[in-house]
Amino acid sequence: MHATVLHGPRDIRLEQVDDATLVEPTDAIVRVVAACVCGSDLWPYRGVKPTPEPTRIGHELVGIVEEVGADVRTVRPGRFVIAPFVFSDGTCVHCAHGIHTSCVAGGVFGTGPSRSTGRPIDGCQAEYVTIPQADGTLVALDEVPDDHLVPGLLTLSDVLATGHHAALAARVTAGATVAVVGDGAVGLSGVIAAKRLGAERIVVFSRHADRQALAREFGATDVVESRGRDGARELKELLDGIGADGVLECVGTEESMAQAIASTRPGGMVGYVGVPHGDGGLSLQRMFGTNVGVAGGVAPARAYIPELLPDVLDGTIDPGRVFDRTFALADVADAYRAMDERTAIKALLRP
Ligand SMILES: [Zn+2]
Repeated sequence: MHATVLHGPRDIRLEQVDDATLVEPTDAIVRVVAACVCGSDLWPYRGVKPTPEPTRIGHELVGIVEEVGADVRTVRPGRFVIAPFVFSDGTCVHCAHGIHTSCVAGGVFGTGPSRSTGRPIDGCQAEYVTIPQADGTLVALDEVPDDHLVPGLLTLSDVLATGHHAALAARVTAGATVAVVGDGAVGLSGVIAAKRLGAERIVVFSRHADRQALAREFGATDVVESRGRDGARELKELLDGIGADGVLECVGTEESMAQAIASTRPGGMVGYVGVPHGDGGLSLQRMFGTNVGVAGGVAPARAYIPELLPDVLDGTIDPGRVFDRTFALADVADAYRAMDERTAIKALLRP
């Protein structure tokens, strides 16, 4: 079988690797129908995060179950499944609280061996993937979906769930005014999530015409092209002079966090899902003075899939449109280059 392996900065290859196997009786093997490149994959790709040894990469997939271990009860061979980017047992105290990303038996696909057990964990940009904790991790559909639904279903692995997490953390409710910092696939998914939760005004910060257009189709009502303090000032002018009730921070830099906090009205909330780089740039003094709150973190996608899945299946939302380019898995290096050079919002991979 073939899988994507990152060797070092901008050195990524599809390689022949050992076939996926059942390592533990709770594992399942899934044949990948679609995978993709995440913005967070670009950190190790660019060498910002070091890759000390060749590492299988990718953490989003949908596919067909090929084989299950003796202890797997809820998924059977032939079923179409969605795998969130973190595997989890679904039974521990953290899973019970809906924070599957902290599962005591969990881990992230495509980041190297498990930190707790040392067992190798596959990356999802591959032909086949071994899924640990299959019962807790995988969400099986009743039937194999029509192919046009595959991109939307794949967003449940990560970006749509992450945008939803940002909107919940920002306490978006019906009638709310919302701002979204970041016009990548997560920010655009945040627009979908805010609209779905009933936001009345959704302002997206974006300088890219194609992303602005997609954001508007997803439900954004306004676009602000300026950034930083200028951007926050323009946003406030749009929203009664006070700022947004909730702001979705979908980038992860100190600048984007500062912009998000400056765009929030007194008493409002920032929901942050951008992977923080640096210390996040939080100004506790500013937060104290304005009662602006900050919540969020890594999205427990597994917790949200059951709620979001019906809306994807019936076409209420169409998050698959964040994939603006599709590559064969064999061309995975081109997919990374397109993401790196921003000629793709999000690249879909088809084995
Ligand atoms: Zn758990």
